[in-house]
Amino acid sequence: PGKDGNYLVTLVPGDGIGPEVAQAVKGIYSAAKVPITWEEVDVTPEIRDGRSRIPLSAEESIKRNTLALKGPLATPIGKGHVSLNLTLRRTFKLFANVRPCRSIEGYKTPYDNVDTVLIRENTEGEYSGIEHEIVDGVVQSIKLITLEASERVARYAFHHAEQNGRNRVTAVHKANIMKMSDGMFLHACRQVAKDYPKIQYDEDNLDRVCLRIVQDPAPYSDRVMVMPNLYGDILSDMCAGLIGGLGLTPSGNIGKDASIFEAVHGSAPDIAGQDKANPTALLLSSIMMLRHMSLFDKADQIESAIFKTIAAGETTGDLGGKLGTRAFTDKIISRL
Ligand code: NAD
Repeated sequence: PGKDGNYLVTLVPGDGIGPEVAQAVKGIYSAAKVPITWEEVDVTPEIRDGRSRIPLSAEESIKRNTLALKGPLATPIGKGHVSLNLTLRRTFKLFANVRPCRSIEGYKTPYDNVDTVLIRENTEGEYSGIEHEIVDGVVQSIKLITLEASERVARYAFHHAEQNGRNRVTAVHKANIMKMSDGMFLHACRQVAKDYPKIQYDEDNLDRVCLRIVQDPAPYSDRVMVMPNLYGDILSDMCAGLIGGLGLTPSGNIGKDASIFEAVHGSAPDIAGQDKANPTALLLSSIMMLRHMSLFDKADQIESAIFKTIAAGETTGDLGGKLGTRAFTDKIISRL
Protein backbone atom coordinates (compact mmCIF):
# COMPACT_ATOMS: atom_id res chain seq x y z
CA PRO A 1 0.00 0.00 0.00
CA GLY A 2 1.00 3.64 -0.64
CA LYS A 3 1.06 6.57 1.80
CA ASP A 4 -2.74 6.81 2.10
CA GLY A 5 -2.95 3.08 2.90
CA ASN A 6 -4.35 2.41 -0.55
CA TYR A 7 -2.81 0.12 -3.18
CA LEU A 8 -1.59 1.92 -6.27
CA VAL A 9 -2.87 0.27 -9.45
CA THR A 10 -2.16 1.42 -13.00
CA LEU A 11 -5.30 2.04 -15.07
CA VAL A 12 -5.13 2.02 -18.87
CA PRO A 13 -8.57 3.28 -19.98
CA GLY A 14 -7.78 2.34 -23.59
CA ASP A 15 -9.56 3.25 -26.81
CA GLY A 16 -13.18 3.38 -28.05
CA ILE A 17 -15.53 2.34 -25.24
CA GLY A 18 -12.49 1.88 -22.94
CA PRO A 19 -12.84 5.23 -21.12
CA GLU A 20 -16.59 4.68 -20.56
CA VAL A 21 -16.22 1.21 -19.06
CA ALA A 22 -13.16 2.34 -17.05
CA GLN A 23 -15.29 5.16 -15.63
CA ALA A 24 -17.88 2.59 -14.51
CA VAL A 25 -15.18 0.62 -12.67
CA LYS A 26 -13.89 3.78 -10.99
CA GLY A 27 -17.40 4.81 -9.85
CA ILE A 28 -18.23 1.38 -8.43
CA TYR A 29 -14.84 1.04 -6.69
CA SER A 30 -15.18 4.41 -5.09
CA ALA A 31 -18.74 3.61 -3.88
CA ALA A 32 -17.55 0.25 -2.50
CA LYS A 33 -14.57 1.97 -0.80
CA VAL A 34 -12.04 -0.40 -2.37
CA PRO A 35 -8.58 0.57 -1.05
CA ILE A 36 -7.16 1.31 -4.50
CA THR A 37 -5.76 4.55 -5.92
CA TRP A 38 -5.71 4.50 -9.72
CA GLU A 39 -2.71 5.79 -11.63
CA GLU A 40 -4.02 6.51 -15.13
CA VAL A 41 -1.64 6.13 -18.07
CA ASP A 42 -1.77 6.25 -21.85
CA VAL A 43 -0.06 3.41 -23.71
CA THR A 44 -0.19 4.71 -27.30
CA PRO A 45 3.04 3.26 -28.71
CA GLU A 46 6.07 5.39 -29.53
CA ILE A 47 9.24 4.51 -31.38
CA ARG A 48 12.20 4.13 -29.02
CA ASP A 49 15.57 2.67 -30.03
CA GLY A 50 14.06 1.93 -33.43
CA ARG A 51 11.34 -0.27 -31.94
CA SER A 52 7.65 0.28 -31.29
CA ARG A 53 7.39 0.49 -27.48
CA ILE A 54 4.85 1.65 -24.91
CA PRO A 55 5.69 5.08 -23.43
CA LEU A 56 8.33 4.95 -20.72
CA SER A 57 6.01 6.61 -18.16
CA ALA A 58 3.39 3.86 -18.66
CA GLU A 59 6.02 1.11 -18.54
CA GLU A 60 7.46 2.51 -15.31
CA SER A 61 4.02 2.89 -13.72
CA ILE A 62 3.12 -0.77 -14.40
CA LYS A 63 6.58 -1.98 -13.27
CA ARG A 64 6.34 0.04 -10.05
CA ASN A 65 2.78 -0.97 -9.17
CA THR A 66 3.12 -4.54 -10.59
CA LEU A 67 -0.62 -4.42 -11.33
CA ALA A 68 -2.69 -2.89 -14.09
CA LEU A 69 -6.31 -2.88 -15.22
CA LYS A 70 -6.49 -2.34 -18.95
CA GLY A 71 -9.27 -1.30 -21.31
CA PRO A 72 -9.30 -2.43 -24.95
CA LEU A 73 -6.70 -1.06 -27.34
CA ALA A 74 -7.50 -0.51 -31.00
CA THR A 75 -4.77 -2.13 -33.07
CA PRO A 76 -3.79 0.34 -35.81
CA ILE A 77 -4.26 -1.16 -39.25
CA GLY A 78 -1.23 -1.06 -41.53
CA LYS A 79 2.26 -2.40 -41.72
CA GLY A 80 4.91 -1.61 -39.15
CA HIS A 81 2.56 -1.63 -36.17
CA VAL A 82 3.25 -4.44 -33.75
CA SER A 83 0.19 -5.51 -31.78
CA LEU A 84 0.24 -3.54 -28.56
CA ASN A 85 -1.08 -6.51 -26.65
CA LEU A 86 1.92 -8.55 -27.83
CA THR A 87 4.22 -5.68 -26.84
CA LEU A 88 2.75 -5.66 -23.33
CA ARG A 89 3.09 -9.44 -23.09
CA ARG A 90 6.75 -9.21 -24.03
CA THR A 91 7.55 -6.15 -21.91
CA PHE A 92 6.16 -7.62 -18.69
CA LYS A 93 6.84 -11.32 -19.39
CA LEU A 94 3.16 -12.16 -19.01
CA PHE A 95 3.54 -15.94 -18.95
CA ALA A 96 0.04 -17.12 -18.00
CA ASN A 97 -3.29 -16.06 -19.44
CA VAL A 98 -6.18 -16.89 -17.11
CA ARG A 99 -9.68 -17.07 -18.60
CA PRO A 100 -12.64 -17.98 -16.38
CA CYS A 101 -16.05 -18.47 -18.03
CA ARG A 102 -19.10 -18.66 -15.81
CA SER A 103 -22.77 -18.67 -16.85
CA ILE A 104 -24.47 -15.44 -15.95
CA GLU A 105 -27.95 -15.69 -14.48
CA GLY A 106 -30.32 -13.49 -16.45
CA TYR A 107 -28.48 -14.03 -19.72
CA LYS A 108 -29.89 -17.18 -21.26
CA THR A 109 -27.64 -19.42 -23.36
CA PRO A 110 -27.97 -23.14 -24.21
CA TYR A 111 -26.16 -23.95 -20.94
CA ASP A 112 -26.74 -22.45 -17.51
CA ASN A 113 -24.09 -24.39 -15.61
CA VAL A 114 -20.78 -23.32 -17.19
CA ASP A 115 -18.00 -22.55 -14.71
CA THR A 116 -14.65 -23.22 -16.35
CA VAL A 117 -11.19 -21.84 -15.60
CA LEU A 118 -8.54 -22.15 -18.26
CA ILE A 119 -4.88 -21.19 -17.99
CA ARG A 120 -2.90 -20.82 -21.16
CA GLU A 121 0.89 -20.69 -21.49
CA ASN A 122 1.36 -17.27 -23.03
CA THR A 123 4.97 -16.97 -24.23
CA GLU A 124 5.98 -19.90 -26.42
CA GLY A 125 4.59 -23.09 -27.97
CA GLU A 126 3.10 -22.69 -31.43
CA TYR A 127 3.25 -18.88 -31.14
CA SER A 128 7.02 -18.57 -30.82
CA GLY A 129 7.03 -16.86 -34.21
CA ILE A 130 9.84 -19.01 -35.63
CA GLU A 131 8.89 -19.82 -39.21
CA HIS A 132 10.85 -20.18 -42.43
CA GLU A 133 10.53 -21.44 -45.96
CA ILE A 134 12.88 -24.34 -46.53
CA VAL A 135 12.40 -24.54 -50.31
CA ASP A 136 9.68 -23.11 -52.53
CA GLY A 137 6.31 -24.28 -51.31
CA VAL A 138 7.61 -25.85 -48.09
CA VAL A 139 7.34 -23.90 -44.85
CA GLN A 140 8.43 -24.95 -41.41
CA SER A 141 6.98 -23.49 -38.21
CA ILE A 142 8.66 -24.36 -34.95
CA LYS A 143 6.72 -25.14 -31.80
CA LEU A 144 9.04 -24.33 -28.97
CA ILE A 145 8.38 -25.79 -25.51
CA THR A 146 10.76 -25.24 -22.61
CA LEU A 147 10.77 -26.98 -19.26
CA GLU A 148 11.13 -23.60 -17.54
CA ALA A 149 8.02 -22.00 -19.08
CA SER A 150 6.01 -25.21 -18.68
CA GLU A 151 6.89 -25.47 -14.99
CA ARG A 152 6.14 -21.80 -14.44
CA VAL A 153 2.63 -21.99 -15.92
CA ALA A 154 1.94 -25.35 -14.25
CA ARG A 155 2.93 -23.91 -10.87
CA TYR A 156 0.64 -20.94 -11.42
CA ALA A 157 -2.23 -23.29 -12.34
CA PHE A 158 -1.88 -25.23 -9.07
CA HIS A 159 -1.53 -22.01 -7.10
CA HIS A 160 -4.65 -20.59 -8.77
CA ALA A 161 -6.61 -23.80 -8.04
CA GLU A 162 -5.60 -23.67 -4.39
CA GLN A 163 -6.45 -19.96 -4.06
CA ASN A 164 -9.83 -20.33 -5.73
CA GLY A 165 -11.12 -23.48 -4.05
CA ARG A 166 -10.77 -25.77 -7.05
CA ASN A 167 -9.55 -29.25 -6.16
CA ARG A 168 -8.23 -30.50 -9.49
CA VAL A 169 -5.80 -29.48 -12.22
CA THR A 170 -6.21 -31.05 -15.66
CA ALA A 171 -3.37 -30.70 -18.16
CA VAL A 172 -4.81 -30.54 -21.68
CA HIS A 173 -2.48 -31.85 -24.40
CA LYS A 174 -1.82 -33.80 -27.59
CA ALA A 175 1.13 -35.75 -26.26
CA ASN A 176 -0.12 -38.80 -28.13
CA ILE A 177 1.03 -37.02 -31.32
CA MET A 178 3.44 -34.34 -30.04
CA LYS A 179 5.32 -36.84 -27.95
CA MET A 180 8.37 -34.76 -27.10
CA SER A 181 7.00 -31.21 -26.82
CA ASP A 182 3.66 -31.86 -25.15
CA GLY A 183 5.34 -34.78 -23.43
CA MET A 184 7.68 -32.36 -21.70
CA PHE A 185 4.78 -30.04 -20.85
CA LEU A 186 3.10 -32.99 -19.10
CA HIS A 187 6.34 -33.96 -17.38
CA ALA A 188 6.55 -30.43 -15.94
CA CYS A 189 2.92 -30.59 -14.74
CA ARG A 190 3.51 -33.98 -13.06
CA GLN A 191 6.57 -32.67 -11.24
CA VAL A 192 4.75 -29.59 -9.97
CA ALA A 193 1.73 -31.72 -8.94
CA LYS A 194 3.94 -33.41 -6.32
CA ASP A 195 4.24 -30.06 -4.50
CA TYR A 196 0.43 -29.80 -4.22
CA PRO A 197 -0.71 -33.05 -2.59
CA LYS A 198 -4.18 -31.63 -1.77
CA ILE A 199 -4.96 -30.88 -5.41
CA GLN A 200 -5.78 -33.82 -7.67
CA TYR A 201 -4.02 -33.95 -11.01
CA ASP A 202 -5.01 -35.58 -14.28
CA GLU A 203 -4.45 -35.25 -18.02
CA ASP A 204 -6.78 -35.26 -21.00
CA ASN A 205 -6.53 -34.89 -24.77
CA LEU A 206 -7.55 -31.55 -26.26
CA ASP A 207 -9.98 -33.10 -28.76
CA ARG A 208 -11.72 -35.12 -26.09
CA VAL A 209 -12.01 -32.09 -23.77
CA CYS A 210 -13.65 -30.05 -26.58
CA LEU A 211 -16.13 -32.83 -27.27
CA ARG A 212 -17.01 -33.32 -23.61
CA ILE A 213 -17.35 -29.65 -22.66
CA VAL A 214 -19.87 -28.94 -25.40
CA GLN A 215 -21.82 -32.07 -24.45
CA ASP A 216 -21.87 -31.23 -20.74
CA PRO A 217 -19.78 -28.44 -19.18
CA ALA A 218 -20.81 -29.25 -15.58
CA PRO A 219 -17.98 -31.71 -14.72
CA TYR A 220 -15.42 -29.02 -15.54
CA SER A 221 -16.52 -26.70 -12.75
CA ASP A 222 -14.33 -28.34 -10.11
CA ARG A 223 -10.99 -27.74 -11.78
CA VAL A 224 -8.41 -25.57 -13.48
CA MET A 225 -7.32 -26.58 -16.99
CA VAL A 226 -3.73 -25.76 -18.02
CA MET A 227 -2.29 -26.08 -21.52
CA PRO A 228 0.19 -24.87 -24.16
CA ASN A 229 -0.42 -21.60 -26.03
CA LEU A 230 -2.39 -22.52 -29.17
CA TYR A 231 -4.71 -25.00 -27.43
CA GLY A 232 -5.54 -22.39 -24.80
CA ASP A 233 -6.20 -19.71 -27.39
CA ILE A 234 -8.84 -21.82 -29.10
CA LEU A 235 -10.36 -23.64 -26.12
CA SER A 236 -10.80 -20.38 -24.16
CA ASP A 237 -12.88 -18.85 -26.96
CA MET A 238 -14.92 -22.01 -27.17
CA CYS A 239 -15.70 -21.73 -23.44
CA ALA A 240 -16.56 -18.03 -23.90
CA GLY A 241 -19.05 -19.09 -26.57
CA LEU A 242 -20.78 -21.35 -24.05
CA ILE A 243 -21.65 -18.40 -21.79
CA GLY A 244 -22.75 -16.06 -24.57
CA GLY A 245 -19.64 -14.67 -26.21
CA LEU A 246 -16.68 -12.48 -25.57
CA GLY A 247 -18.60 -9.47 -24.23
CA LEU A 248 -18.93 -10.93 -20.75
CA THR A 249 -15.58 -12.62 -20.33
CA PRO A 250 -12.74 -11.30 -18.20
CA SER A 251 -9.09 -12.30 -18.30
CA GLY A 252 -5.87 -11.93 -16.40
CA ASN A 253 -2.32 -11.93 -17.75
CA ILE A 254 -0.04 -13.07 -14.97
CA GLY A 255 3.59 -12.08 -15.36
CA LYS A 256 7.00 -12.13 -13.82
CA ASP A 257 7.30 -8.34 -13.56
CA ALA A 258 3.60 -7.39 -13.43
CA SER A 259 0.08 -8.71 -13.98
CA ILE A 260 -2.43 -7.07 -16.29
CA PHE A 261 -6.18 -7.71 -16.13
CA GLU A 262 -8.43 -6.92 -19.10
CA ALA A 263 -11.75 -7.64 -20.76
CA VAL A 264 -11.57 -10.00 -23.70
CA HIS A 265 -13.59 -7.75 -26.04
CA GLY A 266 -12.16 -4.94 -28.19
CA SER A 267 -12.75 -1.20 -28.37
CA ALA A 268 -16.20 -1.49 -30.03
CA PRO A 269 -15.82 1.61 -32.23
CA ASP A 270 -19.42 1.20 -33.47
CA ILE A 271 -20.87 2.17 -30.08
CA ALA A 272 -18.05 4.28 -28.59
CA GLY A 273 -19.06 7.51 -26.89
CA GLN A 274 -22.78 6.64 -26.93
CA ASP A 275 -23.27 5.43 -23.34
CA LYS A 276 -24.14 1.96 -24.68
CA ALA A 277 -21.13 -0.12 -23.63
CA ASN A 278 -21.55 -2.94 -21.14
CA PRO A 279 -18.86 -2.58 -18.45
CA THR A 280 -19.37 -6.13 -17.08
CA ALA A 281 -16.31 -7.73 -18.71
CA LEU A 282 -13.91 -5.07 -17.43
CA LEU A 283 -15.61 -5.17 -14.02
CA LEU A 284 -15.22 -8.96 -13.83
CA SER A 285 -11.57 -8.57 -14.87
CA SER A 286 -11.09 -6.08 -12.04
CA ILE A 287 -12.66 -8.61 -9.66
CA MET A 288 -10.10 -11.22 -10.76
CA MET A 289 -7.50 -8.58 -9.92
CA LEU A 290 -8.99 -8.02 -6.44
CA ARG A 291 -8.76 -11.77 -5.76
CA HIS A 292 -5.19 -11.77 -7.09
CA MET A 293 -4.55 -9.06 -4.46
CA SER A 294 -6.32 -11.20 -1.82
CA LEU A 295 -9.03 -8.52 -1.41
CA PHE A 296 -11.64 -11.28 -1.33
CA ASP A 297 -14.40 -9.43 0.57
CA LYS A 298 -14.49 -6.51 -1.84
CA ALA A 299 -14.41 -8.91 -4.80
CA ASP A 300 -17.41 -10.87 -3.47
CA GLN A 301 -19.35 -7.70 -2.63
CA ILE A 302 -18.98 -6.12 -6.08
CA GLU A 303 -19.44 -9.38 -7.97
CA SER A 304 -22.68 -10.12 -6.17
CA ALA A 305 -24.02 -6.61 -6.93
CA ILE A 306 -23.24 -7.09 -10.65
CA PHE A 307 -24.87 -10.52 -10.86
CA LYS A 308 -27.99 -9.37 -8.97
CA THR A 309 -28.37 -6.40 -11.31
CA ILE A 310 -28.10 -8.56 -14.44
CA ALA A 311 -30.41 -11.24 -12.98
CA ALA A 312 -33.03 -8.51 -12.35
CA GLY A 313 -32.95 -7.73 -16.08
CA GLU A 314 -31.52 -4.27 -15.47
CA THR A 315 -28.91 -4.44 -18.20
CA THR A 316 -27.37 -2.68 -21.16
CA GLY A 317 -28.67 -3.17 -24.70
CA ASP A 318 -26.28 -5.98 -25.66
CA LEU A 319 -27.94 -8.17 -22.98
CA GLY A 320 -31.43 -7.14 -24.08
CA GLY A 321 -31.92 -4.39 -21.49
CA LYS A 322 -32.69 -0.71 -21.84
CA LEU A 323 -30.04 0.90 -19.65
CA GLY A 324 -27.06 2.99 -20.70
CA THR A 325 -23.58 2.42 -19.27
CA ARG A 326 -24.09 5.06 -16.59
CA ALA A 327 -27.57 3.96 -15.49
CA PHE A 328 -26.41 0.31 -15.34
CA THR A 329 -23.45 1.40 -13.21
CA ASP A 330 -25.80 3.25 -10.83
CA LYS A 331 -27.97 0.12 -10.45
CA ILE A 332 -24.88 -1.87 -9.43
CA ILE A 333 -23.86 0.84 -6.96
CA SER A 334 -27.33 0.79 -5.39
CA ARG A 335 -26.88 -2.97 -4.69
CA LEU A 336 -23.41 -2.82 -3.14
P1 NAD B 1 -15.02 -5.66 -30.54
O1 NAD B 1 -14.98 -6.63 -29.40
O2 NAD B 1 -14.52 -4.31 -30.26
O3 NAD B 1 -16.53 -5.54 -31.05
C1 NAD B 1 -17.30 -6.63 -31.57
C2 NAD B 1 -18.81 -6.33 -31.37
O4 NAD B 1 -19.12 -6.51 -29.98
C3 NAD B 1 -19.21 -4.91 -31.74
O5 NAD B 1 -20.48 -4.92 -32.32
C4 NAD B 1 -19.26 -4.19 -30.39
O6 NAD B 1 -20.17 -3.12 -30.37
C5 NAD B 1 -19.67 -5.31 -29.45
N1 NAD B 1 -19.10 -5.10 -28.11
C6 NAD B 1 -17.81 -5.33 -27.71
N2 NAD B 1 -17.64 -5.02 -26.44
C7 NAD B 1 -18.85 -4.59 -25.98
C8 NAD B 1 -19.31 -4.11 -24.71
N3 NAD B 1 -18.49 -4.01 -23.65
N4 NAD B 1 -20.59 -3.73 -24.62
C9 NAD B 1 -21.43 -3.82 -25.65
N5 NAD B 1 -21.06 -4.26 -26.88
C10 NAD B 1 -19.78 -4.64 -27.04
O7 NAD B 1 -14.21 -6.33 -31.73
P2 NAD B 1 -13.69 -5.67 -33.10
O8 NAD B 1 -14.74 -4.77 -33.64
O9 NAD B 1 -13.23 -6.81 -33.89
O10 NAD B 1 -12.41 -4.83 -32.69
C11 NAD B 1 -12.38 -3.41 -32.55
C12 NAD B 1 -10.97 -2.97 -32.17
O11 NAD B 1 -10.59 -3.52 -30.92
C13 NAD B 1 -9.89 -3.39 -33.18
O12 NAD B 1 -8.97 -2.34 -33.34
C14 NAD B 1 -9.20 -4.56 -32.47
O13 NAD B 1 -7.85 -4.70 -32.85
C15 NAD B 1 -9.32 -4.15 -31.04
N6 NAD B 1 -9.24 -5.28 -30.06
C16 NAD B 1 -8.54 -5.08 -28.93
C17 NAD B 1 -8.50 -6.08 -27.96
C18 NAD B 1 -7.72 -5.83 -26.70
O14 NAD B 1 -7.20 -4.74 -26.49
N7 NAD B 1 -7.59 -6.80 -25.83
C19 NAD B 1 -9.21 -7.26 -28.13
C20 NAD B 1 -9.96 -7.43 -29.30
C21 NAD B 1 -9.98 -6.41 -30.27
